[in-house]
Amino acid sequence: MTVLATRLRGFGTTIFAEMTALAQRTGAINLGQGFPDTDGPAEIVEAAVAALRAGHNQYAPATGVPALKTAVAEHQRRRYGIEVDPDEGVLVTFGATEAIAAALLGLCEPSDDVLTLEPYYDSYAATIAMAGGRRRPVTLRPPDFALDPDALAAAITPATRLVLLNSPHNPTGRVLDRAELELIAALCRERDLIAITDEVYEHLVFDGEHIPLVTLPGMAQRTLTISSLGKTFSLTGWKVGWASGPPPLVAAAATAKQFLSFAGGTPLQHAAANALGRADVHGRRLAAELSAKRDRLCAGLEAAGLAVHRPAGTYFVNADIRPLGESDGRAFCWSLPERAGVVAVPTVAFYDDHEAGSHLVRFAFCKRDEVLDEAIVRLRALTPRS
Ligand code: PMP
Ligand code: GLN
Repeated sequence: MTVLATRLRGFGTTIFAEMTALAQRTGAINLGQGFPDTDGPAEIVEAAVAALRAGHNQYAPATGVPALKTAVAEHQRRRYGIEVDPDEGVLVTFGATEAIAAALLGLCEPSDDVLTLEPYYDSYAATIAMAGGRRRPVTLRPPDFALDPDALAAAITPATRLVLLNSPHNPTGRVLDRAELELIAALCRERDLIAITDEVYEHLVFDGEHIPLVTLPGMAQRTLTISSLGKTFSLTGWKVGWASGPPPLVAAAATAKQFLSFAGGTPLQHAAANALGRADVHGRRLAAELSAKRDRLCAGLEAAGLAVHRPAGTYFVNADIRPLGESDGRAFCWSLPERAGVVAVPTVAFYDDHEAGSHLVRFAFCKRDEVLDEAIVRLRALTPRS
């Protein structure tokens, strides 16, 4: 007997949890789940300790600690010239994950189609399903994972009401350029769509620049912009996130969010408020470090015989396993600990169109250089399968 509600059937355990468990079970190097293996900045950790000791230990206001909401509004203005109301235009959440869920639960009608890019971050599929919507993926294809205007047009239906966009994009590492974003913005304006944008890797760009969709003409009133502290400050376990935008969209997400977790993580919100002023400086330093790690791992994967799709941002690189005589990324990843002592993620887990992603494998490079080097040595031992 299955007790799981119909809308969640097929979601099982996330691929990240599965692959981290595989790494722990086998002792393999974990280049699967995207988390840094070094700690975030000590002064931000100390700010959290100070907030705990200062007695910031009760419920935060439902939409977040005012100092953090102000810090988010200042970040948006300083970095992108975006004006948001720090009071009614910002909602603090448990990571971007809760912001995405709250946005969909608050904005998506059961009959709505939600357009998203594929491969897609796994929580999108689950939260669209929880909201009762239907996902309509637009497939990004290698080698450059660019947005195909025809595929975009083909994914639109009479029921499309929302676009759930992610750039810089996990898992491909693609950073959408202005022309691609303009295609999406034009579609939103023409069809009167609401855009929800996931920009958690906004500071982790190595080539090109991150352009928030909300800055494009006609988008300010229809875009809810989501980000979080985890990637920018290497504090993925803190789960401090936020959504910002026009008050009606923020209020819709807030209505759902108050019944998901209400509010919490109060001391971490105080520390995040303190940290966010340094996001630009810290983000630049981190992006420079990660860019070198990208180069390191890309070179290593090439030396191991894989065809690398070099990312412009994020923590991740995708490699095509076909030069090794293999085409099943899932089988490759499950056998990789035994064959090479390394764990990676089968990118196909993020596709509806399995054929489009079956030969791709995602490796995370947000790891110490010596860990990457050891993984590279191990991967070089891979022998092509005939
Ligand atoms: N969106 C994307 C694209 C991600 O890669 C992640 C994972 N880190 C999240 C959202 C979740 O962010 P958070 O940890 O802040 O919930
Ligand atoms: N965002 C991380 C990744 O893509 C994983 C987050 C999670 O485990 N849910 O690897």
